[in-house]
Amino acid sequence: MSEMTPSATPTQSNFIRDIMAADLASGKHEGRVHTRFPPEPNGYLHVGHAKSITINFGLAGEFGGKCNLRFDDTNPEKEETEYVDSIIEDVKWLGGDFGGRIFYASDYFQQLYDWAVQLINAGKAYVCDLSAEEVRRTRGNFTEPGKDSPYRTRSVEENLALFERMRAGEFPDGTRTLRAKIDMASPNLNMRDPVMYRILHAEHHRTGNQWCIYPMYDYAHGQCDSIEKITHSICTLEFEDHRPLYDWFIQQLGIYAPQQIEFDRLNLTYTMMSKRKLLKLVKDGHVNGWDDPRMPTISGMRRRGYTPEGLRNFCARQGVSKTNGITELSLLEYFIREDLNKHALRVMGVLRPLKVVIDNYPDDQVEWMEAVNNPADSSAGTRQVPFSKVLYIEQDDFREDPPKQFFRLSPGREVRLRYGYFVTCTSVVKNAQGEVVEVHCTYDPATRGGDSPDGRKVKSTMHWVSAVHAIGAEVRLYETLFTKEDPNDVPEGQDFTSNLNPRSLETVTARVEPSVAGAPPMTRYQFERLGYFCVDKGSTPETPVFNRTVTLKDAWAKIEKKTK
Ligand code: ATP
Ligand code: MG
Repeated sequence: MSEMTPSATPTQSNFIRDIMAADLASGKHEGRVHTRFPPEPNGYLHVGHAKSITINFGLAGEFGGKCNLRFDDTNPEKEETEYVDSIIEDVKWLGGDFGGRIFYASDYFQQLYDWAVQLINAGKAYVCDLSAEEVRRTRGNFTEPGKDSPYRTRSVEENLALFERMRAGEFPDGTRTLRAKIDMASPNLNMRDPVMYRILHAEHHRTGNQWCIYPMYDYAHGQCDSIEKITHSICTLEFEDHRPLYDWFIQQLGIYAPQQIEFDRLNLTYTMMSKRKLLKLVKDGHVNGWDDPRMPTISGMRRRGYTPEGLRNFCARQGVSKTNGITELSLLEYFIREDLNKHALRVMGVLRPLKVVIDNYPDDQVEWMEAVNNPADSSAGTRQVPFSKVLYIEQDDFREDPPKQFFRLSPGREVRLRYGYFVTCTSVVKNAQGEVVEVHCTYDPATRGGDSPDGRKVKSTMHWVSAVHAIGAEVRLYETLFTKEDPNDVPEGQDFTSNLNPRSLETVTARVEPSVAGAPPMTRYQFERLGYFCVDKGSTPETPVFNRTVTLKDAWAKIEKKTK
C-alpha cells in the first residue's frame, strides 16, 4: 500500500460548522447547539461511527454546546445489552463527553405512542391491514405513483380502536401496521404513506414484553430529537430523502423542530463497515470477536494500539461533504503513526531471530548500554540495554549474497549495532538445508555505544537483543483483513468473505529487550525499525503478547520488494 501524505487529501470543509455558526449568530434555536450521537445497539461501533462521534461531540464542544448519546433501540430483535455496554465504553474512549446524558429511544415509547394517537385523531394516520409484501407492491416506483391502501379511508374511531388493539397484543406479527396518511403519489417514495408502527411480539432489552408494537426509525428518530431539544440532527447522506418526512411528522405534531443535516459516510479501502457483515465475521469465526485487532471496530482498533487522538485527528481531517467517497486506509495509518511517534517509547525487539556470536567479545561480559527512549521527546529519558557475546538480529538484516542495494550485514561487511558496537561478519554456520542459522562477527571495542571514533562510516544501523537477556514474546502481525480495496467486489455467486485475506494474521515468536518485561496491556512501544506494537489485553508477565499496531514507513521494504 502506498504511503499517502495528508496534503494529498482535499482540504477539509465543514459546512455543518458554518450552519451552526450562522444559526448562533441569528439566534435560531435560542442560541444553543445540542447534537446527539444515535447508534443502533445492534453491533459494535466501527471507524465510520468514529467520524460521526467526532463531528457530533466535536462541534458541540466547539460551540459550548452539548451532545447526547442516544441508543436508537426501536428494533427489539437485533439489539443486545452487550452492544450498549461496548458503545458506551467506545464513545468514552474516543473522548465523547455525554456527561451522563445517555438516552434510549425506548424511554420515549409511551410519548411516541401518544403522538401516534394524536396523528390518528387529526386524520393523519391509519391502521392498514396490508401485509408488508402488499405495502411494498402498492408503493409504486420512481416512475409510477403508488396505490392508495383500501384501508386508507377508515374512520378516526375505527383507527383508534384498531391501534389500541394492536398495542393490546390482539393481532399476530405482520398482520397490521399504522401508516402515516400523506400522499401515495408523492415523487418522494418516503412520503407514500410510510409505516409508523409494526406488530412484533418480541422481548425488548429494556422494555421487556411491555410492548408488542414498535415504532419505525423514520417515525421515532425526529421525535426523539425533538424531545431532547436537539438543535442540529446530523446524519449520513442516505437520510437526505427522508428529511421531508422527518419535518412532516414534527410539523403535524406541532412540536419543537430540530434541523436535520446530512454528511458523507466514511468509507475506507480494504475495510468493511456494515454491522450486519461484521457480525457475520464474528459469528462464523473469521475473526476472534468484535475486538479482534483486524476488525474496523473501535474496540478492535483500541486493542490493536490505535490512540483516540490519532483516530480523532484522522476523522477531523476527513471534514464533511455532500458526496460519498473512499478514503485510503494508509491515510488512517498515517495519523495513527504520527500520534504514536510522539508518545511511544522506543525499544528493540527482533521478530525473526537470527543468532549472532561475537567471537572476540569476552564470554561472560555484559555491558549496559544507554539507549534513548524517544528521540521525539527528550523528557522520556534513557534506559539501559544489555549487550553480550550472543545476540539476535533480524533474519532480514542478513544476506549471505547481498543484492546491490542491500547494505545490512553480510560476509565481510561492517555495520553498526544501535547503541552497541560496530561489528563485522566473519563467517556463517548453516543447517542441513543450507540455511544460515548462526552468524559470526568480530566487534571493534573502540566503537562502544555505536560511535565511530575515527569517523569511519557504515551504511547500516541495525537493532538487536542480547540472547540471554531478551524475553520471548508472541507477536501478532496484521495485514488488511481483505485482499481487495473494495471487499464487496466479488464474482457472481460469492460473498464478501471470499475476499478475506488468508495472511491477515501471522504470529511469530519474537525476542524483545528486557525493559518491556511485565508491561501491562495497552502499553505502546515502537520496536525500532519495525513499527508500533501494543501489549495485548491477554498478555501476562509469563507469556507476553504484542499486537503490531502499524508498521513504520520503511524505505527498505520497498527496495527489498524490488530486489526479491
Ligand atoms: P450499519 O448500516 O452498519 O448498521 P448504521 O448507519 O445503521 O450502520 P447506526 O448505529 O445507525 O449505524 O449509526 C449511528 C450513527 O453513526 C448514525 O448517525 C450514522 O449515520 C453514523 N454512521 C454510521 N456509519 C457511518 C459511516 N461509515 N460514516 C459516518 N457516519 C456513520
Ligand atoms: Mg442504522
